[in-house]
Amino acid sequence: MTSDETQASFIDHPLIESLLERHTRPDAARVREILSKARLAKGLSLEEVAALTGLSDPELLGELFAAARHVKETIYGRRLVLFAPLYVSNLCSNECAYCAFRARNKEVDRRALTQEEIAQEVDLLVSQGHKRVLLVAGESYPKEGFDYVLGAVRTIYGVRDGNGEIRRINVNVAPLSVAEFVRLKAEGIGTYQVFQETYHRETYAKVHLAGKKTDYDWRIFAMHRAMEGGIDDVGIGVLFGLYDWRWEILALMQHIAELERVFGVGCHTISVPRLEPASGSLIASHPPQPVSDVDFRKIVAILRLAVPYTGIIMSTRETALIRRETFALGVSQISAGSRTNPGGYAEGEHYDGSQFALGDHRLLDEVIRDVATLGYIPSFCTACYRLGRTGQDFMDLAKPGEIKAHCDPNGLSTFLEYLLDYATPETRSVGEKLIGEVLAGFSDRARTRSERMLAKVRAGERDVYC
Ligand code: SAM
Ligand code: SF4
Repeated sequence: MTSDETQASFIDHPLIESLLERHTRPDAARVREILSKARLAKGLSLEEVAALTGLSDPELLGELFAAARHVKETIYGRRLVLFAPLYVSNLCSNECAYCAFRARNKEVDRRALTQEEIAQEVDLLVSQGHKRVLLVAGESYPKEGFDYVLGAVRTIYGVRDGNGEIRRINVNVAPLSVAEFVRLKAEGIGTYQVFQETYHRETYAKVHLAGKKTDYDWRIFAMHRAMEGGIDDVGIGVLFGLYDWRWEILALMQHIAELERVFGVGCHTISVPRLEPASGSLIASHPPQPVSDVDFRKIVAILRLAVPYTGIIMSTRETALIRRETFALGVSQISAGSRTNPGGYAEGEHYDGSQFALGDHRLLDEVIRDVATLGYIPSFCTACYRLGRTGQDFMDLAKPGEIKAHCDPNGLSTFLEYLLDYATPETRSVGEKLIGEVLAGFSDRARTRSERMLAKVRAGERDVYC
């Protein structure tokens, strides 16, 4: 059992340091060679990723972005998957210096939603048109313990409102034991997410001051235990701003390589949160190693080239402008209309109970209209997970490019569902125009398949997927 190891030696600190030292100013010819390999969408080696992190020449930067756009377009086309976070509790026994939910922070109103309150939140999300939620909680549960989370998953799946329902729940809660992962999997969750925050041990120790989260290795082996527990879609991430982003990207690559080595498949998604102001946290407003907007775009572009088939998630921590810019560079999933305070959908956003400040406050309908105006297809598709196309099975379809034949029509049919059931007239007209344009660009076979599915949706059928 791999997770019985106690030290994550696969994060090789000296190797990362020496690679970064060697690549502070990569040679232009070498960068171009790497970028032309990257355009084949087969991924990059650790050394190649290190070289890309070092580039700063504006011309090369432009070429990096162009390569990322090319890979994003080839693999994901114009789809962007939408979800909403659902904060069920901000009780927490840890002391993460950057987070408003940390145990000793007195500035935050604590609460764990009751199952009825969770259902009420879900009802509101469903009535906006959401089909996917990310369940989020601090690391301390009400008296039921971990059963509270399992109950929340059941409650969320149980909500029905007209045509509306949540079809996929992803979960971002503190690392679990293998036995707990088995139980979580049995509730039918999609992806299990947890972010290492920083892979750099020394920095990790400095910002995690008390509680179970002080244990770097328990956290980093969470994905091993999740996979041993049968969860084959896992999501990892770095909280950017804590340590040097170049270092973190290489460590993230080593984490993925380790999962591939042990389980034959890496992670399903990568999240790229940047530190945002949080009540009661100095470090959140003054990140020790801030990541500039240019570097943030670089991070997304490099990840897109390094692991072309892994989803990249962009949350509403970022502003609408940054979000727009990164869609083209590689982002494949975005949250919209988010609240980070438990009860926030019913009661509105308030900073006292929130985990951090949001950068994008727009409602789902506005985000969808914006995304569609830019030519992206907002997708609520959940087909893969429901048809068991997860983990290795998903990658086997994704790598030869076959997944697109499913994603494109599924994206359009779920978008049309949204337009018919929830959109404002303005968004509906932007959306219908986009659907027409997208269909015109499909091959004959894809168009026929898609039109058949769209006709079913127009006739009142819902949840049409292939
Ligand atoms: N409590 C669990 C944990 O820490 O893994 C799960 C949920 S935690 C609420 C979700 C994530 O929020 C953390 O992993 C961290 O990366 C992020 N986060 C915490 N404080 C933040 C801040 N000030 N700005 C941006 N993201 C933050
Ligand atoms: Fe608790 Fe998670 Fe916030 Fe840390 S990041 S204080 S574990 S909610």
